[in-house]
Amino acid sequence: MTISTTTSSTTIWRATVLTLFPEMFPGPLGVSLAGKALASGLWALEARDIRDQATDRHRSVDDTPAGGGPGMVLRADVLAAAIDAAEIAPRRPRLLMSPRGRPLTQSRVRELAAGPGPLIVCGRFEGVDQRVIEARNLEEVSIGDYVLSGGEIAALALIDACVRLLPGVMGKVESGAEESFSEGLLEYPQYTRPQSFEGVPIPDILLSGDHAKVAAWRRTEAEALTRARRPDLWAARPNQARTKSTTDG
Ligand code: SAH
Repeated sequence: MTISTTTSSTTIWRATVLTLFPEMFPGPLGVSLAGKALASGLWALEARDIRDQATDRHRSVDDTPAGGGPGMVLRADVLAAAIDAAEIAPRRPRLLMSPRGRPLTQSRVRELAAGPGPLIVCGRFEGVDQRVIEARNLEEVSIGDYVLSGGEIAALALIDACVRLLPGVMGKVESGAEESFSEGLLEYPQYTRPQSFEGVPIPDILLSGDHAKVAAWRRTEAEALTRARRPDLWAARPNQARTKSTTDG
C-alpha cells in the first residue's frame, strides 16, 4: 500500500515501513498537519506487509525461540526477504524499532528528516532473529525505556517527529526552532486566552509587549524547568550555550 499521489519519488521524503500490520498506517499520520502534507505529496509513506514474503503453506513469519523461552521470534529469512523486496536505495537509513536500541533524540530526528527517509522494520512478538539485524545492517532505535507490543507505534512516533520538520509541513518555520530540545532545553511555559483562568492570570511580562523582556523571561523559565526536570539534559548542554548562574559550580 503506497499512500502518495506524487510520481516523482526521487526527492520526496519517504518512510518505508515493514510490518505485519500495514493497516495501522497511516493511522494517526493521516490526520492534521502530517495527514495534509501526506495528501499533498510533501512526503510519502509505504507500508509493506512482511507476511507477503512467507513461503510456507501457513504463511508463517515467526517460530519458537532457539534455546527455549516464551513467545515467538520473527524469522530471519522472511524478514530479510521483505527488506530485499523493498529495494531500498543504499543511502537510506535502515532502522529496526527495538527497546534495545539507542534512544531516539531530537538531533537524530533532525538528521533523519534531512535525509531521504528511512526504511523502518517493526518487530512483533519477542523480537527478531539476531542474524537479520546483522546481515541487513539494521540500526536499532528505541523510543524509550518501556516495552510496546510491536514496533508500529514506535515507527509512527518516529515518522511523526520527522515529518513535522519537513519543509512546508508546519505552519511556521520558527515553531520548530524554539521548542523543547532545540537548544538542549525544555520549552518555556505557554499561555493563551482567557487572561484569567480560575483566578490565575497570564504572567504580566507576556502581555507587556516588550519582546526582549519576554525572550529573557522565557529563557529563564526554560533553564529552570530543564534543571529541575532533566538534570541529564542540563548537564549535557554545550558550555558556550550555558548561561552562567550561581549553581553551575
Ligand atoms: N522481547 C523484547 C521486546 C519485544 S517487544 C525485549 O525484551 O527486548 C516487540 C516489538 O515491539 C519489538 O521487536 C520492537 O519492534 C517493538 N518495541 C517494543 N518496545 C519498543 C521501544 N521501546 N522502542 C521501539 N520499539 C519497541
